[in-house]
Amino acid sequence: MRTKPEQQIHQCECAICRAGDDPVTTQYHQQVNLLLSRLNEPQRRWYAGVLSQQPDSPSDHQLAEITGLDEKTIRRGRRELADGLDGLSPDRQRQAGGGRPRAEKKSHN
Ligand SMILES: [Zn+2]
Repeated sequence: MRTKPEQQIHQCECAICRAGDDPVTTQYHQQVNLLLSRLNEPQRRWYAGVLSQQPDSPSDHQLAEITGLDEKTIRRGRRELADGLDGLSPDRQRQAGGGRPRAEKKSHN
């Protein structure tokens, strides 16, 4: 697992931020990326999936520029959200490839 102690914050590459004449949008995109930098991989794509479904949301292509995530990753996040994040845990990097039953963590209660 390649976890860096300090996550790099992605600099938005969308046309609006590059033009630099819409400080409100630029600040919003910076905050989106700031939040994303504190999330783990599945959480990042789920958040991007939510963003992609807002009423006036940018296209997946624009979202990819804003967040630095892959368009495929954004689509996957949206699909997983549509499925109710069924069987997905934010702690897991990836699901085990089927077959084996899900190992439940021991809970302290
Ligand atoms: Zn931007």
